[in-house]
Amino acid sequence: METLSREIRLAHRPIGLPRESNFELAEVRIPEPRKEEVLVRNIYMSVDPYMRGRMIDRPSYVPPFQIGEPLAGACVGQVVASKSAMFQAGDYVSGAQGWREYYVSEGAALTKIDPHLAPIQTYLGALGMPGMTAYVGLLYIGLPKAGETVFVSAASGAVGAVVCQIAKIKDCRVIGSAGSREKVAWLMNEARIDGAFNYKEAGDLVAEVGKHCPNGIDVYYENVGGKHLEASLEHMNLFGRMVICGMISQYNSVEPEPGPRNLFYVTTKRLTVRGFIVSDHLDRRAQFLKDMSQWIAEGKIKWRETIVAGIENAPKAFIALFKGENFGKMLVKIGPDPAV
Ligand code: NDP
Repeated sequence: METLSREIRLAHRPIGLPRESNFELAEVRIPEPRKEEVLVRNIYMSVDPYMRGRMIDRPSYVPPFQIGEPLAGACVGQVVASKSAMFQAGDYVSGAQGWREYYVSEGAALTKIDPHLAPIQTYLGALGMPGMTAYVGLLYIGLPKAGETVFVSAASGAVGAVVCQIAKIKDCRVIGSAGSREKVAWLMNEARIDGAFNYKEAGDLVAEVGKHCPNGIDVYYENVGGKHLEASLEHMNLFGRMVICGMISQYNSVEPEPGPRNLFYVTTKRLTVRGFIVSDHLDRRAQFLKDMSQWIAEGKIKWRETIVAGIENAPKAFIALFKGENFGKMLVKIGPDPAV
C-alpha cells in the first residue's frame, strides 16, 4: 500500500533573505519498502543555516538543492514498516531525508537512536550534528587550555551553546555574544558562562568585546562573521586560534562582503585561523557521543529549543534562523512522538 506524504520543495532559488514563496508544499505517494528498505515517518526535522548555501547553484562541499525537488536534511522519526533485518517497526531512527513526512530509505542510510538517553530531537541538536560541530571545532581546532579565554558568537544557538559549555567543562573563561537580552540572561544563568552581551545593543563591538575580555581572546569560535570577526581580531592574543565554523551574517549577501580591515593581525599576532566542516571529522563521532552523553547525564550541557509545528511551516522556521528568531536549536515537529 502506498503512503500519502507532504514534502517541501525548492520552487525558486532565493536572492538575499529567503521568502516563503521560494518554497512549495507538494503531496506525493510513497511506495512500500522493498528488500533491505525501510519506511520511516518523520517526527522532527532540523533546519540549519548551511542549507542556505545549498540553495545556491554552485559547487561546494555538499551538492546544491535542485529546483522542483524536495529539500533534504537531518531528521528523526520512527520506522513504520521494514524489509531490512537491521530495523523493526517502532524503532526510532535518524536520517537525512527531512522536509517530508514519510520516506523510504535503504536501512544502511539510517541510524538507530535511543529514546531513553534523551528526547529524540536531541539527536538533531546537542547529540547530533550541531553538538558534534561544537565538540570537534572547539576541542580539536580551538585546542583550548584551562584558564584561557574563549569568545563565542551566536553563543545561545545550537552550536554556540554547546561550545560555551564544553569550554566551561575545560575550565576556560567563556564570553558569549547573542542577539537578545533573554538569550544573554540564559547564557549567564543557565549555561553559566563568565560573561555575555547583546551585540545588537552594544554599539561599539570592539569596545564591548574588549570590556568582556580584558586579558584578550585565546580562542575565538566564529559563527557569525563580519563585525564580530573584526572585533575579535582586534583582541586576539599572540598565538591565538580562530575556529571558523560559520559566518551566518553573510549567507544572504548578494555580493561578497568586504573582508575584515584588520586581517594583518593574523601575521603580527601569529594566529592560527582554521575553517572546518564537521563531516570531515566523523572518526571522532564515537568519542563525541560518549563524552556528550555523559555530560548531558551529569547536567553539564543545557540547551534551548524552538519548535515550529507542521511541515507546512518549515520554510518559516528556516527563514527565522537569519532573523535570530530561534532561541537554541530550531526544529520542526512533523508528527506525533508516541514516546512523549
Ligand atoms: P543557530 O542555532 O546559532 O541559529 C542561527 C543564529 O545566528 C540566530 O539565532 C542568530 O542568533 C544568529 N544570526 C543570524 N543572523 C545573524 C546576523 N546577521 N548577525 C549575527 N548573528 C546572526 O545556528 P547553528 O548553531 O545551527 O549554526 C551556527 C553557525 O555554525 C552557523 O554559522 C552555521 O553555518 C555554522 N555551522 C557550521 C558547521 C560546520 O561544519 N562548519 C556545522 C553546523 C553549523 P542571535 O539572536 O544571537 O543573533
